[in-house]
Amino acid sequence: MASFEFATANRIIFGDGCAESVPELATSYGRRVLVVAGRDPGRAEWLVEALQARGADVVLLCVGGEPDVALVDGGAALARRRAIDAVVGIGGGSALDAAKAIAALATNEGGAIDYLEVVGTGQPITMAPLPLIAVPTTAGTGSEVTRNAVLTVPDRRVKASLRSPLMLPRVAVVDPLLTHDLPPSITASTGLDALTQLIEPFMSARANPMTDALCRDGISRVARSLRRACEHGHDTEARTDMSLASLFGGIALANAGLGAVHGLAAPIGGMFNAPHGAVCAALLPHVMAANVRALRAGAAESPALNRAAAVGRLLTGRADAGADEGIAWVGEAVARLRIPRLSDVGVTSGDLPAIAEQARQSSSMKSNPAALAPEDLIAILNAAL
Ligand SMILES: [Zn+2]
Repeated sequence: MASFEFATANRIIFGDGCAESVPELATSYGRRVLVVAGRDPGRAEWLVEALQARGADVVLLCVGGEPDVALVDGGAALARRRAIDAVVGIGGGSALDAAKAIAALATNEGGAIDYLEVVGTGQPITMAPLPLIAVPTTAGTGSEVTRNAVLTVPDRRVKASLRSPLMLPRVAVVDPLLTHDLPPSITASTGLDALTQLIEPFMSARANPMTDALCRDGISRVARSLRRACEHGHDTEARTDMSLASLFGGIALANAGLGAVHGLAAPIGGMFNAPHGAVCAALLPHVMAANVRALRAGAAESPALNRAAAVGRLLTGRADAGADEGIAWVGEAVARLRIPRLSDVGVTSGDLPAIAEQARQSSSMKSNPAALAPEDLIAILNAAL
C-alpha cells in the first residue's frame, strides 16, 4: 500500500538531558503554566522550580492513577479560571493523557462526556487545544505523539477516548534519563506495552511504509534492550532504545491503528483497576498465536503471515526464525519478567463473555489482521487468565 497520510507532534525533541529545555519552551507561550504530573509531586519539583525561576506563574495538578472524566473537567475549569497559557504533561501515560484532555477541554465548550467516543456524544473537538508539551517519564505508552486521551467513566465501568487530530501535543520532549529510576516491574510492563504498540500497527490492516519502518526498528530495539533495561536501570543504551521504541510505537499506532490486544485491554481496564501495560503484556503472546492460527486457517495465503514471520526474525535476530519463534520469544519474556496474569488483577472466568463482547465493538479490533470470533477471544482470555 503506497498511499497514506501521516501525522505526528509538531516537534519531537529526543535525547538524554533534553527535558532541561522544557521551562524555556513552556514560557515561550506565556507566563501562566499548568503542570499536570503523576501521583508523586516530588518528581515534578525540579520542573516547577525551573519554571518559577523563569518568572512563570505555575499551577501543579497531580494525577493519582488513570484519569476520569471528573478529573479532566475539573482541570479544564482550573485552566480557564487561571487563564493558563500552556500545559506541560510530565509522567506516565495517565498524566500525559490527563494533560491532553485538559488542554483540549479548556478551549472547547462543555465537558469530557460531550466529546467521548462510544459512551459520550462524540462531538468533534473544533477549537485548537492550549499549547501542550508532553514529557514522558516511562517508556511505553507513546502518548506524547498520539491524538487521543483514554479516560475512565467510573459509573459506567468503561474506558473511552477523547480523540482529535488537534490533540497531538505541540512538542514531545522525550528524555531517556527520566526513565532511569523506574523500578523493574514498571520497566517490564510498560516496555511490553511499547512492544505491543509496535507489533499491532505492523500487523494492522492500516499499516503503511512509514509506520513499517518505525515498527521494524522499534521491535529490534525492544528485542535487544528490554531485558537489560529491567536488570540494569541505569544502562544508557538500553534506556535510550526503550524510549525510542515507545516513541515509535506511539507514532505507529496513531497512524496505523492497533489490534486485538488493545481491543481486549480496553474493557479489562474499564472493569478492573489494572495497569494498561501489564494487561497488554499478559495478552500479547496469546493474541499473536490466535492471529497466526486464524490466518493459517484462512482460504488464501495472507500477507499478514509474512509480517508475523518478520516479527519472529526481528525479535530473535535469526534469519531462519518465523512466526512461531516470535510468539515463543514474547511468551518467554512475559514469563521471565514476571508479568501478572489476568486473574491477578481480578478477572474471573465469569467475566470473559462480557469482556469479549465489549472488545468486539472497540475501534482497535477493526485493524486486527484476522477476524477473531467471540470464541477465539474467550480462548485468548482464558489462556491469559
Ligand atoms: Zn498500549
